[in-house]
Amino acid sequence: MEGDRRRPEGRSDPFWNSVASFGIEEIFALPDWIGEGKTATAPVGRVPSSMDVQTELAALAERVGDCRGCRLCEARNSIVFGGGNPSAGILLIGEGPGASEDERGIPFVGKAGQLLDRILESIGLDRESVYITNIVKCRPPNNRTPSSDEVAACWWILEEQIRIMEPGVIVTLGAPASRTIIGTSDGIGRLRGSVHRFGDIPVLPTYHPAALLRTQALKRPVWEDMKLLRTLLKKLGLPGKGEP
Ligand code: SF4
Repeated sequence: MEGDRRRPEGRSDPFWNSVASFGIEEIFALPDWIGEGKTATAPVGRVPSSMDVQTELAALAERVGDCRGCRLCEARNSIVFGGGNPSAGILLIGEGPGASEDERGIPFVGKAGQLLDRILESIGLDRESVYITNIVKCRPPNNRTPSSDEVAACWWILEEQIRIMEPGVIVTLGAPASRTIIGTSDGIGRLRGSVHRFGDIPVLPTYHPAALLRTQALKRPVWEDMKLLRTLLKKLGLPGKGEP
């Protein structure tokens, strides 16, 4: 429909431009359990700039120290703990650091991270309105998928991060992160497009931006997932623009 192809004036980010023709309408009905007992004026995550969250995370990072809990410690340059705003209420979880992240100690700073920035921007988010981490904090050699024992060894750190940050919503990027958080062996193609849960926290799986760099056809499902995320954020009273 022509109406679905309209583009607000001044909109120039490449990701949005490339997906705008897919439609911007709200098409999702959220499960009833989401936001139970919450109101749109009382975000379910911690309030911005909460010092106790930052203090607790710093204490956790100190406990992690020079962790040698699995073989991934052998070739790493940095433990990539996480980055962004831990009080934002929106937690993004990827698979593991890549070469650029390992070098700089910051998550999602390579090409996939730059694409992730554009994807976030398409629904009015940026690095200060989310917190980003991975299921393993050290780079798997040659960017291989972390093994189940490596994920298990690193799990306590992510579990503590979630406990401290109390996110209102978790977005999992790619199959390994989605399977780990949701507790399933299903593929990402089956998991994405609907809301799952980690305890009481809604979990929204989508493709990893690195997969999007390889396969252009994934742009459309990722955009659909971002529309679903935007609907969730509105329901929970969390940041993000109401309109793309
Ligand atoms: S991946 Fe996690 S458990 Fe393994 S060495 Fe790094 S911080 Fe420790």
